[in-house]
Formats: sequence, structure tokens, C-alpha cells
Amino acid sequence: MKPKSCSFCGYRSNETPILVEGPGVNICSHCALIAIRFMIDKTKAYPEMMEELKKELKELSDHLHHVGTEI
Ligand SMILES: [Zn+2]
Repeated sequence: MKPKSCSFCGYRSNETPILVEGPGVNICSHCALIAIRFMIDKTKAYPEMMEELKKELKELSDHLHHVGTEI
């Protein structure tokens, strides 16, 4: 079977440790982090959205702390 690849950068599942699979699209850990950075930059202009994003990032940070990985 052909390895699945990231829909954004084209990395194949055997070249990246994490590939998140969605319906018809996949994203690798590298592109997911780029997407988060992009969202943070774009959301700066929208304070209400920024609050929501901050909450989600805080939850992510708490989750990472819970599984023993700090960012
Ligand atoms: Zn990628």
C-alpha cells in the first residue's frame, strides 16, 4: 500500500513521525505547527477570537504538561 502523505508539504507517513488523517486530507506535525503560528498571527486583529484561541492553546499546553511534555 502506498504511504499516505501530508496534503500541505507532501511528506509521506514514513518521513514524518505524526500524520493526522482527515476526510480526504492529511496534515503532518510540521505543517500543523505552521498552521497554529499562522492562526496566532491572523487572530491578533480579532480580540474575541484571540481569547478563544488562547483558551485552546492553554488547554493544549495543559494537555502537554499532563502527558509529560513541556512547550
Ligand atoms: Zn506537512
